[in-house]
Amino acid sequence: MIIGSHVNFGKEQLLGATKQAISFGANTFMFYTGAPQNTVRKDIDDRLTKEAIQLMKENNMDIKDVICHAPYIINLANKEKEEAWHFSIDFLKREIKRVEALGVTKVVVHPGNALKLDKEKALKNISEALNEVLEKESQVKILIETMAGKGSECGQSIEEIQSILKQIEKKDRIGVCLDTCHLHDSGIDIGQFEAYLKAFDEQIGIEKIGCIHLNDSKNILGSKKDRHANLGYGMVGFEKLISVAYNETLKNVPKILETPWINEYPPYKIEIEMLKKKEFNPHLEDEIKFLYSK
Ligand code: FE
Ligand code: FE
Ligand code: ZN
Repeated sequence: MIIGSHVNFGKEQLLGATKQAISFGANTFMFYTGAPQNTVRKDIDDRLTKEAIQLMKENNMDIKDVICHAPYIINLANKEKEEAWHFSIDFLKREIKRVEALGVTKVVVHPGNALKLDKEKALKNISEALNEVLEKESQVKILIETMAGKGSECGQSIEEIQSILKQIEKKDRIGVCLDTCHLHDSGIDIGQFEAYLKAFDEQIGIEKIGCIHLNDSKNILGSKKDRHANLGYGMVGFEKLISVAYNETLKNVPKILETPWINEYPPYKIEIEMLKKKEFNPHLEDEIKFLYSK
C-alpha cells in the first residue's frame, strides 16, 4: 500500500515534508507549496530538494508517488470574473514549474465553482483553462478532484468529470483524484465502491485515477457538505475505507489522508497504523495526546 497524509511544506520545504511523512510511518505524502488558502509562494531551494530526495531514497519513498495540492481558492470554472480566472491559470502554470523543480509529477486541482454560471458553461471554462495550463510540455500531470457538490462546485459526478476530461487536448497530462469523503457526500455509497469503479472505468477509464484521498465524512450519504472525519469516526466507516485502501486494481495508486487534526496534533501516525493493521483504533484521541505530549 502506498500511503501517506497531508504534510507541511514549511521552511525546509520538501525536506521538512519528507521528515514529517517518515515520522508518520508513511511511504508517500501530499503537500501544498504554501498555505492552502492563499497563493503566496516562495522559491524552491535546490539544496533542500537534493537532501530530501536522498532521504526519500533511504526510506523507500518514490517522488513519483508524492502529490502536490493546488490551493483551493483558485477557480477555473468562472470566466465572468476574468481577472481571477486568468490569475488561476497563471498560478497553476507557475505551480507546475515549482513542482517540476522538485521532481513531483502530480498536482491535484479542485475543478472550481460555477457560481452563477450554468454547469455546462462552467465545465467548458475548466477545460479551456486546463488546456492553457498544459500548453507547455512537461512531465507534470493535473489530477482533477471529485467534489462533494457543496454550493456550485463542479466535478461532483462521473459525468461532470468526464465532460471536463473530454475537452482536454493533452489526454496524457490529465487524470483524476478520488476523495472518499467527497464521493460519499455527493451520494456514492463507498460500500458500493466496486460498482462505482466499474462505471468510472466505462465512462472515463480506471487508469486515469492518479491519487486517492482517503477520508471519512462527518455527514450522511449525499449531504453535499464536505467535512472530513478521522478514519472510522464518521459516516463512511472503517470497513468501507479499508476496502478502498486495499482495492487490488488501485494497488499502485497513492492513498492520502486529509483527516482532521485532534487537539492541534496530526492524527496520521495512528491512522496509518490502523490501515496497516486493518484494525480500527477506538482510542485515537488518547493515543495522539500520549504521542505528542511526551
Ligand atoms: Fe482537495
Ligand atoms: Fe481531498
Ligand atoms: Zn474535502
